[in-house]
Amino acid sequence: MLIVHRCQTCGHPDYWASRLGPTIDNRKHCEGGCGCRRCTWGPPETAPRWSSADNTPVTTPAEPGTLGTCACDDCRALYAELVGMATAQLGAPT
Ligand SMILES: [Zn+2]
Ligand SMILES: [Zn+2]
Ligand SMILES: [Zn+2]
Repeated sequence: MLIVHRCQTCGHPDYWASRLGPTIDNRKHCEGGCGCRRCTWGPPETAPRWSSADNTPVTTPAEPGTLGTCACDDCRALYAELVGMATAQLGAPT
């Protein structure tokens, strides 16, 4: 999965916006063809992602700042939470 901010105006994820820097502070102008010139980003959320190799869902979150995702503190906090959850699930007895 990916950690994204979704624009509250046009609904597109932040990695659709022109990437002028590593975080959403540098992303305002959406390139999704929606005409949104000043995106208002919501809090980070998870979005599905599929493997380009075999088209299966990727369940591990991509690290913030990779694959064009945002690397702000909020995204890193959510990532840490998700990774912590994944580790706990792996370690839990079945
Ligand atoms: Zn848009
Ligand atoms: Zn927008
Ligand atoms: Zn972020």
